Amino acid sequence: MADAPLTPMMQQYWDAKKAHPGAMVMFRNGDFYELFEDDAVVGSRVLGIRLTKRDEKIPMAGVPIEKLEHYLGILIRSGHRVAVCEQMEEPGPGKKIIRRAVSRVVTAGTITEDELLDPRRANHLAAVLRTKNGPVGLAWVDPSTGHFFACDVDSSRLADELARIVTAECLMMESDANAVTALFAAHPPKTTTPRPDWTFDPVTATNAIRQHFGVSTFTGFGFDDHQPCLIAAGAILHYLQETLRASLAHVRRIVRHRADSHLVLDEVTRRSLELTRTLRDNNREGSLLAVMDRTVTPMGARFLHDALLAPFNSVTAIDARLDAVEELLREHALRGDLRSLLETASDLQRLTTRASTGRATPRDLGSISRTLQLLPKFKAKLAARRSALLTELDGKLELCPDLRELLDASLCDELPQTAKEGGLIREGYHAELDQLRSLAKSGKDWILQYQATEVTRTAINSLKVGYNQIDGYYIEITNANETRVPENYKHQKTLKGAKRYYTSELREYEEKILSADDKAKALELELFTQIRNHIAAQTHRLLTTAETLATIDALQSLADVAAARNYVRPKVVADATLDIREGRHPVLDQTLPAGTFVPNDVRFGEADGLFWLITGPNMAGKSTFIRQVALITLLAQVGSFVPAAAATIGITDRIFTRVGASDELSRGQSTFMVEMTEAANILNNATSRSLVILDEIGRGTSTYDGVSLAWAITEHLHSVSGCRTLFATHYHELATLSNTLPNLRNYNVQVQELEQEVIFLHKIAPGNADKSYGIHVARLAGVPETILERAEEVLAALESKPAPTGKSKRYIKPPVEMIPPENPKRKARNAGPSLFGEG
Ligand code: ADP
Repeated sequence: MADAPLTPMMQQYWDAKKAHPGAMVMFRNGDFYELFEDDAVVGSRVLGIRLTKRDEKIPMAGVPIEKLEHYLGILIRSGHRVAVCEQMEEPGPGKKIIRRAVSRVVTAGTITEDELLDPRRANHLAAVLRTKNGPVGLAWVDPSTGHFFACDVDSSRLADELARIVTAECLMMESDANAVTALFAAHPPKTTTPRPDWTFDPVTATNAIRQHFGVSTFTGFGFDDHQPCLIAAGAILHYLQETLRASLAHVRRIVRHRADSHLVLDEVTRRSLELTRTLRDNNREGSLLAVMDRTVTPMGARFLHDALLAPFNSVTAIDARLDAVEELLREHALRGDLRSLLETASDLQRLTTRASTGRATPRDLGSISRTLQLLPKFKAKLAARRSALLTELDGKLELCPDLRELLDASLCDELPQTAKEGGLIREGYHAELDQLRSLAKSGKDWILQYQATEVTRTAINSLKVGYNQIDGYYIEITNANETRVPENYKHQKTLKGAKRYYTSELREYEEKILSADDKAKALELELFTQIRNHIAAQTHRLLTTAETLATIDALQSLADVAAARNYVRPKVVADATLDIREGRHPVLDQTLPAGTFVPNDVRFGEADGLFWLITGPNMAGKSTFIRQVALITLLAQVGSFVPAAAATIGITDRIFTRVGASDELSRGQSTFMVEMTEAANILNNATSRSLVILDEIGRGTSTYDGVSLAWAITEHLHSVSGCRTLFATHYHELATLSNTLPNLRNYNVQVQELEQEVIFLHKIAPGNADKSYGIHVARLAGVPETILERAEEVLAALESKPAPTGKSKRYIKPPVEMIPPENPKRKARNAGPSLFGEG
């Protein structure tokens, strides 16, 4: 800070800055939001705007007010929090300094501005509270829609839950920040915000939510009053009040999230199955969501996104959704009608939230109005539906006739972006407004009349009555006619070739017209605010309706994909069956040329085993197959039709995957370490109800280590966990395990060998692969012939050794032995049976 006394404005700036530690302050000054001092230096770099100086000493950088959201977005995305400091009054004569105040603090988790949000995804703010020995309290809210959830989770599950709910910002107690951060493991939320401990105080926090929801106990919401997640929820409310500085009426209930009513997907599985983003480049394109998303509204897209990440685990819930999808699939005219209606609907969730927080623009209310006008048509379409879910949605869809009428009667058809300039309120809605307007308008007629009279009176045909903001109304007469200017004209201004005059009559009228116009605008603003408040008071009803539209959209989307891609309804059962006929990979099915994807069956059961060991060369289609089984299972539990000719899916409690680890390398862990961490998670947590897919185990270590680990892991999953497992592997040696493990079956991906060519048929068939064709693939890739010849030699030697019998559980023979290397220096390091002492 400078030594000289601060100007009053800079004093305001520093007050705002001190009140919001850690935040950049965007300080409204006329047509700009300014950043000062260090913020200006950082801001100019991040935003790519010019750094200047105020009063020749204070670093300053500014953005025009109409670009605020754009620049806010950049700052938030690059990890900053921003306090927006507004002018609280209009500048005017005699006002030395305008009152200013911080109107809100924008952070990654508290964005409500449309421009800053992905319309197709929720933006969550979470809070985490650790307890001494018990579970972790977790709560999360989407401030742009008011959806608010809480649950207690085991600390080992915290990172997965935060990843599932796509957390933009996570709050935690200041004094416990390190311990909480440690729980995030490899997947921390983008922004973490330590908060004063007292905001997590059990009494303060729970009182805050009690007060907000007007309840004395949370048992009605399905909670036990002492759950730590309620304290986390209270800390969230406090943070929202502090940052949003607006009504939180749109946060109207808190839902207890029950992890046990959903299929559990850990973060590794969510990513490796590419549910919402691809592994390689983190794109939406190429993910399951991208092929399944045929929603037409942002609300529907968000619903579908969340549904894919939280599949059900009860037959009843799944069947209810499947019934609705089936009905919409069968009735394709109905589906088409619903789609066209939805296409004209706006994002009622986020619009309502903006109305509720007092931020809705005239156009926002216009969009709410237009969407509400559609409701009777939706209702007509939903009437007399057969499935329970569609009937329930019909019942929930409130027509809101009062709100429709109010908006329809009050708002103009074409609405401006801001409320200040008028042009909002329809003629005939408010008598006083109509009067003021006609006065303003008649005034304008009067001017024309006045001009005509004066032209006649002075006989100056070129006499003009005009208006501008500086001069007000004036009479303009060219110099050529100066001699004919009447006595009562008072000179006002001299222009080139003409002079401007006024008369007392003109001034009187001007006063009347201008004040009528001003009054009309002020009244319009007042009426608009009243209407917005009225809508805000109905937040609850509007959000219920919005939720209904979102659900309809997601259901029609599921039906539409099913119709377009020829999906079938899965039969969902409670036992551990898995029987998919002619299953297809949902993404490849759409991206490969039509008719080229080779469908495959999978069958688990008494005769077919529970553990499928799949061998086959690289590029044969192993990973595609095992992933498709996981994806079809997941889709079925979401309540979607599935890409297959027929499918019976026994509900699974959890899907585990251990597949490709390419993206983890950047996190500084070795491939092998990542593989083993993932394997440990599966071995420790898989139950007999789980589905496990493994794509190679032990690649990152020596062959001996690798096979041995794969061997032992197979035995454990087969005999101890007893889960349905698909294991794709290169280790042909594992095939002999079928001799000892009764539920293990060998499968391979078929390959056709022509003279010079090997054709991958992508067909899964019983039996183990006899060859790897690795050398063939290497030849295709251009590896030198001398290398290939030597490799063939080594291979022939290896293949002449007997395979292990695997009879003993405690001791197995080394499955492969190294043949003497051509170059003695290349000795295998890990050889030796001592490694296999313990199975
Ligand atoms: P692997 O895991 O055996 O190395 P992938 O499953 O990665 O092989 O498959 C390699 C490529 O083969 C895929 O990218 C895809 O283009 C093609 N492919 C795999 N399965 C099929 C299939 N069932 N039908 C058609 N093409 C397939």
